Amino acid sequence: MASNLIENPVSEQQICIKCGLCCDGTLFEHAALQAGEHGSLPEKIVDNYRKLKDEEVFLLPCHYFDGKCTIYDQKKAVVCSAFRCQLLKDFSMGQISKDNADKIVSDALKFRDEILELYKCIFEVDTKLSFRELLNEMGKMTAPPIEKTKELALLKAKCNIYETLLIKNFKSIKTFESMIDSTVE
Ligand code: SF4
Ligand code: SF4
Repeated sequence: MASNLIENPVSEQQICIKCGLCCDGTLFEHAALQAGEHGSLPEKIVDNYRKLKDEEVFLLPCHYFDGKCTIYDQKKAVVCSAFRCQLLKDFSMGQISKDNADKIVSDALKFRDEILELYKCIFEVDTKLSFRELLNEMGKMTAPPIEKTKELALLKAKCNIYETLLIKNFKSIKTFESMIDSTVE
């Protein structure tokens, strides 16, 4: 979630405001809700409410996201205020400069948009998908068009590289290491 723009330090807010990857369906498909929160959520989060096994969540992309959170100064879900990605944590611990954090965000947005454009071009569609929705669509594809084999291979390669970069830069080091371990024989 685009973090708590009121409570977090100004420099963190400046990083989040240009990002939104945790709200727009790039990093996650859904966000976890706390028990009992359902009754006090903003309307568009309730619209996206789902129960997954024992977990209560709302689906992403969030309907309040429009380039940035449009209700950042209003009541949101707890996770919206509490979530801080690894990039923000690294920045707050002085392990990464503001310029580097900004560059990681802008490169991630650019690469993501390039992948979405490639998808639209290959399938000649003009639908607005999030990155995670695109991955789901690709996963559902049982008989990919034979004449698009090369383009699809390129798209898949880009998606894999992008997912690795997202994990490396925005998720925890533990997640990144477990991904590397799972690829080593
Ligand atoms: S992914 Fe991180 S930097 Fe981007 S909006 Fe979310 S918390 Fe902020
Ligand atoms: S309300 Fe939506 S857009 Fe705003 S911080 Fe929460 S998830 Fe992000």
